Amino acid sequence: MAPEETNLDLLEAFSADEIGECSSCGQRACVKLRDAPSTFCLACGAVRVGGMRLDVGRNVPVEI
Ligand SMILES: [Zn+2]
Repeated sequence: MAPEETNLDLLEAFSADEIGECSSCGQRACVKLRDAPSTFCLACGAVRVGGMRLDVGRNVPVEI
């Protein structure tokens, strides 16, 4: 996978009212979780929980 690829294709899995504009990158790719005060951006990867951004300066391990 090329590093510049994003998860924007995953936006299709969410309805329009679940997607908002990202305050970090400005793209309309920020998914809001209904049951938690959390958002995550599929374009730039910004993750916020309860108003705090959690992903800054961290490498999050993923299982592939
Ligand atoms: Zn973003």
